[in-house]
Amino acid sequence: MALYARISRDPSGDMLGVTRQLADCRAEAERRGWAVAEEYVDDDTSAYSGKKRPSYERLLGDIADRSRDAVIVYHLDRLHRRPVELENFVATCTIAGLTDVVTLTGQFDMASGDGLLQARVLAAVAANESDSKSRRIKRKFLELAETGTPYMGGGHRPFGYQEDRATPYEPEAVIFREAAARVLEGESLYSVAASIEARGISGTKGSKMTPTALRTLLLRPRNYGMRVHQGQILGTGTWEPLISPEDGERLRLLLTDPARRKNRAARRYLLSGMLRCDRCGATLASSPRGTERRYACGLQTTKHSPCKGCYINAVNLEAFIADAVLLRLDSPALTDAMTSTEDPGQVQVLGDQISADTARMDDLAAMFADGDISRDEWKVARDRLEARVETNRKALARLTRHDALEDYIGRGETLREQWETLSLSQQVAIIKAVLEYVTIKPAMRRGFQGLDPERVVPQWRL
Ligand SMILES: [Zn+2]
Repeated sequence: MALYARISRDPSGDMLGVTRQLADCRAEAERRGWAVAEEYVDDDTSAYSGKKRPSYERLLGDIADRSRDAVIVYHLDRLHRRPVELENFVATCTIAGLTDVVTLTGQFDMASGDGLLQARVLAAVAANESDSKSRRIKRKFLELAETGTPYMGGGHRPFGYQEDRATPYEPEAVIFREAAARVLEGESLYSVAASIEARGISGTKGSKMTPTALRTLLLRPRNYGMRVHQGQILGTGTWEPLISPEDGERLRLLLTDPARRKNRAARRYLLSGMLRCDRCGATLASSPRGTERRYACGLQTTKHSPCKGCYINAVNLEAFIADAVLLRLDSPALTDAMTSTEDPGQVQVLGDQISADTARMDDLAAMFADGDISRDEWKVARDRLEARVETNRKALARLTRHDALEDYIGRGETLREQWETLSLSQQVAIIKAVLEYVTIKPAMRRGFQGLDPERVVPQWRL
């Protein structure tokens, strides 16, 4: 016969030592006059976690081989914690003809219906216990998330915060704010990450500040004071945010914009993604020919396309656009446009609406957690609030896009002097702050050298 013992790591305190289980089982074997062929012991494994139990597997194999005729176990919950495991065990015993499964709380005759039913009930209860145990742990995390205290689980302190996870760690907080500001102004993650890396700054675990790592860092809601539970933003936290919630929202919208992913791969030329073909509306793409850099309409390669030959020299166009943008920055037209559309009241109104709705979502989460409303009721109400918050956030982002411009406006002349020393990404940021897109008309004058300004129609943002 076989003895089976298992120790599980149980935080509720009813941990039963393997030694005690084995001692009691041996005593039972002796009382019955059964010879113990082998003791099977699994250590520190919760059967519910789905981890392998090597000794249990071996026991099942030996039962199937008919080399064991009885099993003694302290309690059935040591043997199985999931009903499916019990069914498997019962099936193996039935095939092997083993009917003596003894627990110290009573003997189970696997062949009898009653014994099997009792075992099944016990297994179901044990499964439920494991379920509620993990529910209790999840509930605890939700509670912590709801009270707004920082999440203390998981290894290392987050970048930008001290060990208490609530007080900003200034040397890193400064870097974070700088990176956020530069990305908000339109600089690429690659460019910003490279400049951080160049200064020898790394993540909290000494990891490299790659563009991907920087993106993850900038998107982390805790950095702008948002509490998150299982990917769901629950409201504001008690800790000090590194940047304002508004800037955090703008970062999120910017970095999660689906159009961004497409642009990133294409960003080799200054005006990639910003040029439209006047004839077909397609975006012009970089399309070098020999040593000449060119932007060409996507349709130009097909044989009978109306856009065949629709391309423009990149060097000339880039110089022309840069010049136009820098002039625009110093133009009274832009200053007028800025002051006429800037409505500080509107920003305030939108901001207030967003915080009010976020607070309502907090209340809802609390009501759901307390059982005052059902999951469905919570979901319906939350979805409506989320939709409204999203709309307001987009409106806010449109209004606050001027922020990027504020850094450049009136500085056209200075920027012109620095232009050649700026990175491609910084140049792109400046251009995008003023320019929505440029329509490129087909070439009219054959053999024209240089750039025909007639072909270039800029669409200014303001
Ligand atoms: Zn075209």
